[in-house]
Amino acid sequence: MQIMVAMKMQINGKAAGACGGECFEVKNPATGELIEQVPKGTEEDVSLAVDAAVSAFEGWASTSPQQRGMVFYRAAGLVRQRKEELAALLTQEQGKTLSEARNELEGFAHVLEYYCGLTGSLRGDFVPVPGNGYAFTVKKPLGVCAAIIPWNMPALIMGWKIAPALISGNTFVLKPASNTPLTNLTLASILNEAGLPAGVLNVVTGPGETTGESLVRNSNVRKISFTGESKTGKRVAELAASGMKRVALELGGSDPMIVCDDADIESAVAGAVRGRFYNCGQTCTAVKRLYVFESVAEEFTRKLEAGVKKLKVGNGLDKTTDMGPLSNRRQLEFIKELVVEVKEKDEGKIITGGKVPAFKGSDKGYFFEPTLVSDVSGDSRLLKEEVFGPLLPIVTVKNLEEAIGEANRSIYGLGASIWTKNLDRIRAGCEQLNAGIIWVNQHLKVAPEVPFGGVKESGFGRENGPDILSEYLETRTIMVKTP
Ligand code: NAP
Repeated sequence: MQIMVAMKMQINGKAAGACGGECFEVKNPATGELIEQVPKGTEEDVSLAVDAAVSAFEGWASTSPQQRGMVFYRAAGLVRQRKEELAALLTQEQGKTLSEARNELEGFAHVLEYYCGLTGSLRGDFVPVPGNGYAFTVKKPLGVCAAIIPWNMPALIMGWKIAPALISGNTFVLKPASNTPLTNLTLASILNEAGLPAGVLNVVTGPGETTGESLVRNSNVRKISFTGESKTGKRVAELAASGMKRVALELGGSDPMIVCDDADIESAVAGAVRGRFYNCGQTCTAVKRLYVFESVAEEFTRKLEAGVKKLKVGNGLDKTTDMGPLSNRRQLEFIKELVVEVKEKDEGKIITGGKVPAFKGSDKGYFFEPTLVSDVSGDSRLLKEEVFGPLLPIVTVKNLEEAIGEANRSIYGLGASIWTKNLDRIRAGCEQLNAGIIWVNQHLKVAPEVPFGGVKESGFGRENGPDILSEYLETRTIMVKTP
């Protein structure tokens, strides 16, 4: 086992943080081994990072959007050059497979390039007004923006947060999740290498309750973008409201997938396997509840079971692995608890999985078998709570009306998918499913080109798409009187 030199925070373009002081350990969820030690940021570190972002603001805001875009363009190239090394790091700290890690880093590079292409749209308007004169509007960056992010997709979510903010001329402080700060720190140093001036992007590591809350409270932070659990999001929103800050919340989800009787069953089965078990089920928009028409339920479930049984669970660094471990002990314990509850309360039938796999070393990591539960009763927590792991409840329904009613019976509303060849059903699904993103004959696909976000307890505000820039800009109106 190799222990790297303690990785530092990135403040004002330099490695910072007293690892002679307090540190926390980042461990590999597949093996339990120590990968790295990272400084436990204090309130003072948060102030230093925000001060660095304040000092860097004027210079960065006065660069042209095109110059900013060129930094992104170079950084995207560097990420691609170093993709293998970064993917290995992401897999080691998060647990996902190498191929999932590569996809995520490719996604990060693509996000930078997408915003690089939007630089031409950073402009105001000329507006004729009645009387003598005219008006025009100019767009101004907000100042220092900040984000607090989770561990499930640390690289991609970092890209979604920093890219629109920085391209609009803001400076930034990022707080990564405590179990996955390493890829975020490395990506920040790559952006500096690509020419991002010191202080424009700062990364502070440390616990959410202290470091995260200090960041939200800091009066110089003008916008907070948060991704994580709904409960934490509410706390962040409370703190942000008292400081009159802009806030965007990307929270939990319990996405339904509806399989109609005319769906292409093979493709729906493949979509459910990927939609649920990608990233070991730890994706905010994973398929978390499956509603299948009763006339095709037997065939669909049999084929799904066969597909799920083929998934090889193991260390994500092993090329033959299809599904890595859960990312932390808390997630594993939660999934185990749900399975025990299903059995004790007789809430459904475990068709496959339901336990820790028995391969050499599986007890060292947070592994759990991909699990299917059929005939799930309506009051089960599997259908009410967000299940962030490799466990899929299956419910049979008579028709689309019942499926949509059940799908909408959730406190969440992030994503939803409908699988059918019938245009009327597609239209009904798109109109009636209450979610921020609706997929037709697919699930899980996201792209920076289109808005992303949820309704109800899944949060408010959107990531991505061209409109996101206005979330990081103030509009200033200038009225001119002509003689
Ligand atoms: P979490 O416990 O809410 O943590 C998310 C981040 O918030 C971490 O950086 C955490 O720091 C920090 N934090 C914790 N308590 C805080 C506080 N009181 N004040 C400020 N920050 C605080 O969520 P998670 O378990 O990491 O992530 C899983 C959740 O994220 C799931 O619910 C998932 O659905 C959701 N998610 C949503 C989206 C979306 O776009 N809608 C995308 C991905 C994930 P520490 O790590 O130090 O605790």
